[in-house]
Amino acid sequence: MLDCAIIGGGPAGLTAGLYTTRGGLDNVTMFEKGMPGGQITMSSEIENYPGATGHISGMDLMIPWPEQCQRFGLKHEMSEVSRVSRNEDGTFSILKSDGSIDKAKSVIVCTGSAPKRAGFIGEDVYFGRGVSTCATCDGFFYKNKEVAVIGGGDTALEEALYLAKICTKVYLIHRRDTFRSAPSTIERVKNSPNIELIVNAVPEEVIGDKMGVTGIRIALKSGEIRQIDIPGVFVFVGNNVNNQVLIQEDGSFLCDMTQWGEVKVDLSMKTSISGLFAAGDMRESAPKQVVCAAGDGAVAALQAIAYVDGHH
Ligand code: FAD
Ligand code: NAP
Repeated sequence: MLDCAIIGGGPAGLTAGLYTTRGGLDNVTMFEKGMPGGQITMSSEIENYPGATGHISGMDLMIPWPEQCQRFGLKHEMSEVSRVSRNEDGTFSILKSDGSIDKAKSVIVCTGSAPKRAGFIGEDVYFGRGVSTCATCDGFFYKNKEVAVIGGGDTALEEALYLAKICTKVYLIHRRDTFRSAPSTIERVKNSPNIELIVNAVPEEVIGDKMGVTGIRIALKSGEIRQIDIPGVFVFVGNNVNNQVLIQEDGSFLCDMTQWGEVKVDLSMKTSISGLFAAGDMRESAPKQVVCAAGDGAVAALQAIAYVDGHH
């Protein structure tokens, strides 16, 4: 029986691994389906992890994390978890994709989330070279430059407002002429002098050269094609939360979720189920930043230790 099972080995899972083992839990396994490190390993540059100065990639940042945890006894199993369920005695079963099951007294789920892609030509080719899904991460690279934002939901409009403070101009490109966003946010966007709304417009292609994005071609409802020369395109067309491990045999979720599929947690990263914690990008209102995911992992780990010790 594991003291704690950690599902996912990104910044949240690895930090949970460090804190649970260093905090005294003896038998902790982190299940990660790929290489540990999480989605930040796809980033060519990270400038906003405190203390990590100089030109470092996401991979550079994450390389030492697994070894640091293993020094304190964290076991790492390269497995995909299919389902986490709760047993009658209050323990948890971790069903893996090979059909085997491990049991655990507590579980910290840290499987992250992934932004959706819009599907225009060049989006994948230029991802990380001008196409981004994170304004907090990459907005600064476009300081005093012009950028485009794709989408018409709360995320697109809020991120457009964020970018408008850094960039000289933001083109907000949306496929319809009404927005899904909150009315107050729409009002703020409309009142922003450096945000130009381009509605009824579908991005067709991002164009670029060896250095990265140089522009975007959009198809307008009128049939006209408009090209805008910009070095950055931010895509905010929705988000997939990796919550599959919490789906039970009957299709219900193990714990309470938001309507957008994020795990509901309190400030201690406790879910609605005792002994089950969630951390990082998959939890509700996650800022989707490495430093925040790591912080969540530490909080969840301290709570898991208290739970296993019976002080919850
Ligand atoms: P993740 O990093 O997504 O890790 C989840 C892990 O769980 C993954 O390793 C995955 O393989 C594993 N997993 C999922 N399902 C299963 C399963 N069923 N079984 C086993 N394992 C599973 N943040 C910043 O702070 N600054 C930046 O500059 C920045 N730039 C970014 C650039 C890019 C291109 C991307 C994609 C993200 C960037 N981010 C940045 C965001 C940051 O990467 C995330 O906020 C952070 O990685 C979230 O950590 P996490 O541990 O919650 O999830
Ligand atoms: P969302 O509400 O699903 O909006 C996605 C937007 O992208 C929509 O405007 C959609 O257009 C557009 N879109 C989807 N696929 C596209 C494609 N292939 N090409 C071009 N455009 C495409 O996603 P979200 O903005 O990430 O928000 C997700 C949920 O979180 C929402 O319920 C939102 O309210 C919530 N949220 C809340 C807050 C807040 O309360 N402060 C902040 C962020 C998010 P259509 O409109 O035409 O479908």
